[in-house]
Amino acid sequence: MIIKAPKGTDDITAQDSYIWQFMENKAQNLFENSNYKEVRTPIFESTELFHRGVGDSTDIVNKEMYTFVQKERSLTLRPENTAGAVRAYIENGMHRLPSPLKLWYKGPMFRYERPQGGRKRQFHQVGVELFGIQEAIADAEVIKLAMEYLDELNIPELSLEINNIGCPECRNDFRDKIRNAVQPGLEMFCADCKVRYDKNPLRMLDCKNDTCKELLDTDELKETINSDYICEECSTHFDNLKKYLNILNIKYTINKKLVRGLDYYTKTVFEITSNNLGAQNAVCGGGRYDGLVEMLGGKHTPAVGWAMGMERLMAIMPTPEPNKIKAFVVSNNTYKALELAFKLRSKGISTDFDLLNRKFVKQLDKASKLNADYAVLLGEDEINSGTVTVKNLKTSEQHTLSQDKIFDIIEY
Ligand SMILES: [Zn+2]
Ligand SMILES: [Zn+2]
Repeated sequence: MIIKAPKGTDDITAQDSYIWQFMENKAQNLFENSNYKEVRTPIFESTELFHRGVGDSTDIVNKEMYTFVQKERSLTLRPENTAGAVRAYIENGMHRLPSPLKLWYKGPMFRYERPQGGRKRQFHQVGVELFGIQEAIADAEVIKLAMEYLDELNIPELSLEINNIGCPECRNDFRDKIRNAVQPGLEMFCADCKVRYDKNPLRMLDCKNDTCKELLDTDELKETINSDYICEECSTHFDNLKKYLNILNIKYTINKKLVRGLDYYTKTVFEITSNNLGAQNAVCGGGRYDGLVEMLGGKHTPAVGWAMGMERLMAIMPTPEPNKIKAFVVSNNTYKALELAFKLRSKGISTDFDLLNRKFVKQLDKASKLNADYAVLLGEDEINSGTVTVKNLKTSEQHTLSQDKIFDIIEY
């Protein structure tokens, strides 16, 4: 019997890996250019990290984690990477490095979800985290970086939604207000919302259940949701963020129901969607998490960041041009072909040759099929005279020249 990959996982085949490399290279160039350094944390962590760091009221922690016990220790495949990045920040004493500290990451995450609508159980995220800056300029920097990255991938028609969900001080009052407002109809809300009512009633606001959406659509609740409940500090922070976004010419809308699915956010939350052919796709989610470092045992450190699902991005971005080789050596002398191929490769010119030593014409065919720029012909005449014939496969122009001069024509 053939063994298949587990449901919800995919092989990234040799045909497709260039698309991943394209996205990863764009990320690396853009983020490193902005002085973000890559952090690579383990794929599994102590289960407790996610209970404390992602939150007990979230679907991720309650329903979607891959948890296993090994020698009486409970471990979990990471369902997201902010908790791990924060753990690494604390454990490696990164708070002692000059502030701010800017990190980025990429890699697989794991969530036990119904694999439908392109959702995977092993999926990939790319993200950034900026530690140590309390002011809204940090929020603006990471949002701008997200927009730039999406632009580089040619993701069409981006729109940004922002909200400020307050700090622990002002949010407690708001939680009570929400509780009071939904209380009369609580029985009619979905089972998840009943749990959220106790743990984090704000999360009821973005419930996807239609009944819940309707229940929230009363005048009283709308008034509560739209009330300016945030404190002066939070409200100044929000105003400053808007000013920065205006300066950067980034258009945004304020969505008071945007709370994001994670418990650790404070003040700013945001989401970027792409409007492609009438379909709305959330492509980036993030926010500020000023309490998380302390919650996980570190010193109080303000922080802000975002994550993007790479499969989602791939589904809506235009497919980039595949990588191809530059030169193909055509020869029936395998020794000379091998030698010349490595000579070209040593100068950074991607080169292949025919390991099967087929007929000259077949080899030329192969060069065209591979879409190489040049065929480098090494026939008997060329070998005897120490020359080589370089054929430009796009223009069909060809020149015979001494082997030393080959790099005059084929440039890296
Ligand atoms: Zn506040
Ligand atoms: Zn609900």
